[in-house]
Amino acid sequence: MKSDPAKRIYDIQQFGEFGGVNPSITDSSTYTFLEGETMEETFLGHMEGCFLYSRHWNPSNKYLADALAAMEKTESAWITSSGMAAITCSLLQVCNSGDHIVTSVTTYGGTYAFLKNWLPKYNIEVSFVDITKLEQVKAAIRPNTKVIYTETVTNPLLQVSDIPELAKIAHDNGAKLMVDNTFTPMIFSPAELGADFVVYSMTKFINGKNDCVAGAICGSNEFIAQLSDVNDGTAMLLGPVLDPLRSSSILKNLHTLHLRMKQHSSNALYVSQKLEKLGLDVKYPGLESFSQHKLHSNLMNKQFGYGGLLAIDFKTEQNANKIMFKMQQAGVGYLAVSLGYFRTLFSCSGHSTSSEIPAEVQKEMGLSDGLVRLSVGLDNDIEEVFEKIKSCL
Ligand SMILES: *Cc1c(COP(=O)(O)O)cnc(C)c1O
Repeated sequence: MKSDPAKRIYDIQQFGEFGGVNPSITDSSTYTFLEGETMEETFLGHMEGCFLYSRHWNPSNKYLADALAAMEKTESAWITSSGMAAITCSLLQVCNSGDHIVTSVTTYGGTYAFLKNWLPKYNIEVSFVDITKLEQVKAAIRPNTKVIYTETVTNPLLQVSDIPELAKIAHDNGAKLMVDNTFTPMIFSPAELGADFVVYSMTKFINGKNDCVAGAICGSNEFIAQLSDVNDGTAMLLGPVLDPLRSSSILKNLHTLHLRMKQHSSNALYVSQKLEKLGLDVKYPGLESFSQHKLHSNLMNKQFGYGGLLAIDFKTEQNANKIMFKMQQAGVGYLAVSLGYFRTLFSCSGHSTSSEIPAEVQKEMGLSDGLVRLSVGLDNDIEEVFEKIKSCL
């Protein structure tokens, strides 16, 4: 049966306190109890459905978490104040000092910096591999490997992770597979494909408005309970809680995510095909010429297309900067980092969102100095957008 994450969100039906069509916003940090005994039971984690303090759980965050768990088809989910908080809390929950992580050399710059520079301070070792080469992944596994960490579609080279195969490698070796699905919500359902945990920066497509920073972790009841444990839960103790006003606003945006993903995808496909015809070096998973086009096609929920991100290699930084300047002048969109916005955004990856990755490593992973990542917007007249881009070349 075809997976339909949009229908799963639609089906959960959440209502407000007074029959409001939107869930009520709980604007409280703390909650009253009738009896001291119930408070203690809640503290000990024995009271289902009781709220204690909003760093632990807030009803508004719970509504959003339930919707995301439905989307991902996981038992549970947890809301964080940023994508980095979702990633760091999840990894720190699973790994102890002395453990080992296998990850892709192409990840979001912040994630790369955390794995490369921060975790070793706590004696957690990380091996970086080409995640598309399963033999390399297998060879990197050690007895103390706890997690294989990857992005469904990696930033910024758009490499596709073979989630079912990576899950198999992880599980055969007593490890877990953690997947960052920020680039491809709806398009991929990593948990259904075998991932144990799915993390998101909701700052991007899920919210889609570039008006806030937020994140989410989707996983089993057991994992979310561990994360939120008052005694040793990483999310509870590091405390990256999202404000309920903001989470209620993200929940409303989540309900148009399926429509937005379809439009981002069809616009990006149109632009990619046209630019490729002009002879440019375009990377887009929807193009037949894309090396992992088949793998992407086999694993995706087809109704949502190939995503809103494409990359063009303009070879040199100077060339890339010149073209980006012109594109902003011509009204193609904005020269800005981030993605998943209703306007087109573009930036030169090696000198912005991947600048944490040392130049020699960038070269090794095939990240060219002039690689421009475009997050194609929701433009109604995409032909006009393409004409504008063309005029800048
Ligand atoms: C932006 C991004 C993050 C980090 O998310 P924040 O919300 O900025 O903390 C992590 N992973 C990917 C793939 C991203 O694009």
